[in-house]
Amino acid sequence: MELNIIVLAKQVPDTRNVGRQAMNADGTVNRSALPAIFNPEDLNALEQALLIKEANPGSRITLLTMGPSRAADVLREGLYRGADAGILLSDRAFAGADTLATSYALAAAIRKIGKFDIILCGRQAIDGDTAQVGPQVARELGLPQVTYTRRIMQLENNKITVERSIENGVEVVEAPLPLLLTVDGAAAACRPRNAYRLLRYCRAATASERAASGKPANAADSVLVEWNLESVGGDAARCGLSGSPTKVKKVENVIFQAKESKRYTADDEQIKELVSELLANHTIG
Ligand SMILES: Cc1cc2nc3c(=O)[nH]c(=O)nc-3n(C[C@H](O)[C@H](O)[C@H](O)COP(=O)(O)OP(=O)(O)OC[C@H]3O[C@@H](n4cnc5c(N)ncnc54)[C@H](O)[C@@H]3O)c2cc1C
Repeated sequence: MELNIIVLAKQVPDTRNVGRQAMNADGTVNRSALPAIFNPEDLNALEQALLIKEANPGSRITLLTMGPSRAADVLREGLYRGADAGILLSDRAFAGADTLATSYALAAAIRKIGKFDIILCGRQAIDGDTAQVGPQVARELGLPQVTYTRRIMQLENNKITVERSIENGVEVVEAPLPLLLTVDGAAAACRPRNAYRLLRYCRAATASERAASGKPANAADSVLVEWNLESVGGDAARCGLSGSPTKVKKVENVIFQAKESKRYTADDEQIKELVSELLANHTIG
């Protein structure tokens, strides 16, 4: 079965290593102080796509990211690991998008791609942390969805069987194609970059990167496409700030004080003390 697979990949600031300089005084993230990375669970999603492709020769993986010009880095990263093509969705009209407007724009790009069997995305992005985009894209496209995917068990006759994480266990579900899967961090880690692919695609650039660098087009560029609002036929009123019903009222910095943390060692006495304390303050029991 030859499948068309789309992987949604977001470039995120590496919030796992937040230091003092990583927060602005107003409580927002100082993105320039943090390295920009491939959202971790989107790498898990890419690995699932690569496994499907291996089991179904002739399948094709297209990465889709919405973001500024530099988000093309995640597309190249995906190409190094085995994706076939990348689409950067970028336009000033998308700026200030909440999850609803983001999902609308991504869904518009997916409609333009046209033929697809499976859309894979991470469960959640480490900067926004809402886990809303996958389900909202599925809703916008009228697709069934399976969230918290940790393993694809079987894929045949236009049906997929998936193991998904649930509280205290796993659940096995079956769903028809086309569908959207959100993949969580319990799924297999993504394979590393392939040296041959790295050499082949490291010079692949999007149209705006080429325009900024002034470098002439090269053969590798053909795997990267850049679309804007007009090219996906999107409705400006549903994009960016104007398409975002979420209004952030207040952002507060929560700073943990040293006195709020306590260290315990692993000996019996310390564990007993910890349990007594948790019982006393009703955290457990
Ligand atoms: C009022 C408001 C204004 C905002 N303004 C801005 C702004 O100006 N600039 C800005 O960068 N952010 C802005 N944000 C944040 C932005 O809305 C979220 O980062 C975005 O919608 C994704 O949500 P999330 O990070 O919670 O993703 P989640 O829902 O946690 O992501 C789930 C999965 O969806 C996919 N996904 C999510 N986003 C993308 C993407 N962009 N491209 C491809 N795949 C994706 C990934 O696979 C990801 O793992 C704003 C948010 C609000 C509420």
